Amino acid sequence: MKALLYEGVENASVVDRPMPKAGPGEAVVKIGLCGICGTDMHIYFEGMLPPPFVPGHENVGVISELGEGVEGFAVGDRVVAGPPGNCGRCFYCTHGRPNLCVDGFGNTNGLTRDGGMAEYMLVRDARQMLYKVPDNVSFEDAVLTDTIATALRAISQSDLALGDNVLVSGAGPIGLAAIQLFKLAGARHVTALEIVPEKRALAAASGADVVLDPVAEGEGLRGRIAELYGHGPDLVAECAGKAQSLGLCIDLVRNGGQVLNIGAGGEPLSIVPAMLAVREVGLKSSLAYGAQEAKLTLDYLAAGRFKTDGMLSGVIPLADTVEQGFKRLKADRSLVKVAVKP
Ligand SMILES: [Zn+2]
Ligand SMILES: [Zn+2]
Repeated sequence: MKALLYEGVENASVVDRPMPKAGPGEAVVKIGLCGICGTDMHIYFEGMLPPPFVPGHENVGVISELGEGVEGFAVGDRVVAGPPGNCGRCFYCTHGRPNLCVDGFGNTNGLTRDGGMAEYMLVRDARQMLYKVPDNVSFEDAVLTDTIATALRAISQSDLALGDNVLVSGAGPIGLAAIQLFKLAGARHVTALEIVPEKRALAAASGADVVLDPVAEGEGLRGRIAELYGHGPDLVAECAGKAQSLGLCIDLVRNGGQVLNIGAGGEPLSIVPAMLAVREVGLKSSLAYGAQEAKLTLDYLAAGRFKTDGMLSGVIPLADTVEQGFKRLKADRSLVKVAVKP
């Protein structure tokens, strides 16, 4: 079968790989679509994880082979192939936090095991990691499950209360999902900060009441936020994946408010602990998602309660992953999510 093999920084090519075979508890999925994530960009351009492996952790497809003991699934089922780790047995998996699975980095397709930028992919803990895609949900929508469920988990773990004022920094895939979900969850008013014009338009279409360009606003940004919310927004979500953006979020949230770290940027940020303490600013981080959030995402998609318009910017063949995927996503910041169709 064909697969994109990552062999080092800016070194990946389509090669022939042996066809995976499902052992007990495992499944082989014929990949329908595989989304390119910011994480894949960090891997390809910065070598975030050691090669060699096949990237791609945002996968949808059809079960082509089932090992023994995988109840509840059949060959031919359309599935989303899931979140990090999720062994179903460790402390975190049995205490409602499968996203923190101790085997997270031993059992994640596309990060530590071969992923979905390939014709077929082996899923190790099939019962924990596969979610059936409802008949009326297209692969183009279902491939966004990883993105939407990540925002959904963060929001469901946050202090958000009905009627809160919310600010979202960054309107990429996660930010756009967060805007819509904050509204679904009962936020009174949402402001989005985004520097790319096309993404500002999508933020407005996703339900943001006010969309601002933080660079154009410059020093005036704080005043604009004060006009909207007085003391500041109750909750601020960092979705840009930049340390600078997290710093801005901490600045803008009202005293006693909460900052949600969803973007998880890789650069260092200096914080004055006393300033967090004096203002009683809460800082909450959230990683990926678990079964609950994946299933709820698929429910929302099936019921038409979550709109994906504009979130999938393009679908490309496997052979074009580097040029039309990684390189184009880096060069053209108006793109939201691009998916590979092997
Ligand atoms: Zn992802
Ligand atoms: Zn576990």
